[in-house]
Amino acid sequence: MRTRFAKAVVATKALLATNAMCAGAFLCMTSLAAAQQPIVIRAGTLIDGKGSVQRNAVITIEGSKISRLGDRTEHTTYDFSRFTVLPGMIDTHVHIGEHFGKDGRASNAGETPAEQALSGAENAYAMLMAGFTTVQSIGRPSDVPLRAAIASGRLAGPRLLTSVYQLTDTRLTPEEIRQFVRKSVADGADVIKIFASKSIREGGGQTLRDEQIAAACGEARAQGKRIWVHAHAASAVRAAALSGCTAVAHGSQITDADADLMAARGTYFEPNIGLVSQNYIENKPRFLGIGNYDEAGFKFTEDGIPLKLSMFKMAIRHKDLKVIMGTDAVAGAHGQNAREVTYRVQTGGQPAMDAIVAVTSLNAEALGL
Ligand SMILES: [Zn+2]
Repeated sequence: MRTRFAKAVVATKALLATNAMCAGAFLCMTSLAAAQQPIVIRAGTLIDGKGSVQRNAVITIEGSKISRLGDRTEHTTYDFSRFTVLPGMIDTHVHIGEHFGKDGRASNAGETPAEQALSGAENAYAMLMAGFTTVQSIGRPSDVPLRAAIASGRLAGPRLLTSVYQLTDTRLTPEEIRQFVRKSVADGADVIKIFASKSIREGGGQTLRDEQIAAACGEARAQGKRIWVHAHAASAVRAAALSGCTAVAHGSQITDADADLMAARGTYFEPNIGLVSQNYIENKPRFLGIGNYDEAGFKFTEDGIPLKLSMFKMAIRHKDLKVIMGTDAVAGAHGQNAREVTYRVQTGGQPAMDAIVAVTSLNAEALGL
């Protein structure tokens, strides 16, 4: 993280100031908020988030959108001519409400709703200051007022998208699953989230049957919503891709054939290899003893790190597979989101520009932004 890339992140501060999150400046529309004074940024180097680099760029931002990209200006708000500027980063998978409570534990025992709400605000601020201007929360109902507070400008944070709920009950009938999707939409979900496999701490085997996955993905499409499918087992990944889900998260047990299938079906693939497991291990005493965070679960987590790394190296060899950037940030990980990006480059061997494109324009596309 403490690399040249980190310096580039620092130089995003001006973009953060306006929450500008257009990953392709040329494609961005001028904001309606033209009454505000435009912000003009001089960039020594501009990385546009789509794979191109421009020297001595001048970026004009009106409202929350980049309205112009040129090479000269009369007036400069922020002079970053010694720095590199890139679009605000996007994380497609965080749990913005998760935090360590008063007792230092991830279980948050004895907290009031007000204390929990403040932790959501703290996580939002930490991620914004780390260069993330949009995050998608695999969510809970308290994300809804947090999203509204950020959107209205009352609270500093990245633009927030949320699933509001997560489907984990494997006993639901296909019709009950469709009802779950409709309730999520009615209660304000931007995205639907279902668990189609166990946690990696329990081996990751498929949990929802193929027809349950198909019911969820079909109803999400019918409602015009995206759907994120948690799946470690290859069988669950295949069912999700064949059902037309938007994205598969994790995919730790996939093979070349599954990567080919996702590529052919246009399924976004969100591996999480560089932050979530490492954060659990670094904070082991804060998780140990809660639910499936037992010694056996930690063994699965530790053993999974090299397996997920080799899976990622395989996945990025599939040039037609859309590998997006999500961290699965839980308690302790918010604000460290860029570790996933640097790990992919430094340890996973992904070209740096591919990683930057993933965390900016490809993620924007996957979120429908
Ligand atoms: Zn997650």
